[in-house]
Amino acid sequence: MRMGEGHMSEDKKMSDIERTARNWLQERGVTLQDIADLVYYLQVKYHPDLKMDDCLENVDRVLAKREVQNAILTGIQLDRLAEKGLIEEPLLSTIQVDEGLYGVDEILAFSIVNVYGSIGFTNYGYIDKKKPGILEKLNDKSSGMCHTFLDDLVGAIAAAASSRLAHRAANTE
Ligand SMILES: [Mg+2]
Repeated sequence: MRMGEGHMSEDKKMSDIERTARNWLQERGVTLQDIADLVYYLQVKYHPDLKMDDCLENVDRVLAKREVQNAILTGIQLDRLAEKGLIEEPLLSTIQVDEGLYGVDEILAFSIVNVYGSIGFTNYGYIDKKKPGILEKLNDKSSGMCHTFLDDLVGAIAAAASSRLAHRAANTE
């Protein structure tokens, strides 16, 4: 009985984290469709009859992973604190100006890229260089918002979803 109750509360806590991670992405201007568009961009050259629904489904499955949710919450929290000036110097300016040599935003994103194996790294590197769609918007510094962590998180979610899609396609083709 007690064990059952323990499980219940753990499940509830997990879904709070998942719900919050999904809400925060939305609040920061990133929709599932935006990320699915990146997956489509990465994968359509390998799968010409790729369906957008499959891209959406794979993004959704990536967002169901706890380590992904934890990275999203951590990164978005730091972006928000930086916007409000609530981080101490010299870290505050480093995050606010998205200092190129900082690199911790990318390291946090790697915990997502890793989830479905090493092709994720190739996808992440490619999309980070090209910055299509939502990534271009997030990199627009004139918005007054700080997306130092979010741009890498979004690229990483798309890369992981692409890896998942590619692995599944390889198993069915
Ligand atoms: Mg960044």
